[in-house]
Amino acid sequence: MAKYCPTFSCGHEAEVVLFGREKDRDRKLRWYRENGLCPECYRVKQTAEVALKSEGLPPLTGTDKQVQWAAKIRVDVISYVRNKVSSANNTEEQKDGVTQIFLELCQSRTEAKWWIDNRDEYNTMKLLWPEVIRIAKERQLT
Ligand SMILES: [Zn+2]
Repeated sequence: MAKYCPTFSCGHEAEVVLFGREKDRDRKLRWYRENGLCPECYRVKQTAEVALKSEGLPPLTGTDKQVQWAAKIRVDVISYVRNKVSSANNTEEQKDGVTQIFLELCQSRTEAKWWIDNRDEYNTMKLLWPEVIRIAKERQLT
C-alpha cells in the first residue's frame, strides 16, 4: 500500500491510500483526476442529493450529525421499498397505494434516532410492512 495526493476533478488535493497492483493504482489515480471528487466535495454532493430526495418529507429531529445520517438512511430505505414494490406482482393501483402508505409511515417517523437504530433497509421494511399491510386492508387495496 502507498499514500498518494492526487488532484481530484473538483480541483482539490486529498490524500488517498491505495492498495493493489501498480497498474490498478494508476487507473484509480487517473479516475480521481478525471472524474473523482475529493472527500469533502463528495460529502457536500451526497448531502445535497439527500436533501433533494428528502423534499416533501418532514424534517428530522436530533443532533446535526444524527439528522444528517438519518436523512441518508431514510432516502435509501424509501428507494429500496420503491424498488421492491415496483417489481411486485400487483396492479399499478395497488403498488401506488402501498407506496403511498409506506411514505406516510416514513413521514410519521421524524426522530433521527429511530432511523439510525433501524438503519438496515430490510429491518426497517420488516418493522413497517405489517402496518402497511394493515392500512392497505383498511383502504381495501388488497
Ligand atoms: Zn473538492
